[in-house]
Amino acid sequence: MVIAIDGPAASGKGTLARRLARRFGLAHLDTGLLYRATVARLLHDGGDPTKEALAVAAASRLEIADLEAPELRDEEITRWASVVAAQRAVRLALLDFQRDFAMLPPGGAGGAVLDGRDIGTVVLPDADIKLFVTASAEVRAERRFRELRDRGVGSIRSLVLHEIRERDERDRHREVAPLKRAEDAFLLDTTDMSASVAFDAACQLIISRPVKTA
Ligand code: C5P
Repeated sequence: MVIAIDGPAASGKGTLARRLARRFGLAHLDTGLLYRATVARLLHDGGDPTKEALAVAAASRLEIADLEAPELRDEEITRWASVVAAQRAVRLALLDFQRDFAMLPPGGAGGAVLDGRDIGTVVLPDADIKLFVTASAEVRAERRFRELRDRGVGSIRSLVLHEIRERDERDRHREVAPLKRAEDAFLLDTTDMSASVAFDAACQLIISRPVKTA
């Protein structure tokens, strides 16, 4: 079983993907980490993230262990990730990594959950089940603010909201693989939902989905 989950920043898609992977015994790939790790490698080597050739070289050299670096959630990397992600050649360089993960999940798992922005539309258009997870910008900003606070990172609510809106704008309006709901994706608006309610709703959708015939 392959599950594709897309949605904007802090919509709850990452938490949902992790919980679904555990529930159904699937491998999980947070594809945002690929863009973040590309930026981390670039910055580490002193490269300019706006230079597409450098970003492609960094993306092509990524390994699964690179996705575990704790600094990938840092603010500077977060900001650059959506800039690098708008580069067509970078996205192309990361495509096989994602498809290979879904087709041959690590650890012998019986399938995979991938979450990101273009999984249902571009990376895995034939996924068994697609979810598009969203929530209002205000609620997403509040969740991100609390998450930062719990990690001991000082931030200002209005700035977090501003950063979320800026990233939404870049991700939704870029030319290549913009964030959008696939036509056959189920919409899960988590604005007024707890993570557990969203998880139960997603489980119901998965369990009751019509089985695809070859
Ligand atoms: O999901 P996360 O916030 O970690 O993603 C960081 C950035 O990577 C996003 O803002 C987006 O620009 C980019 N991204 C993408 N396509 C994906 C996953 C992430 O463009 N499938």
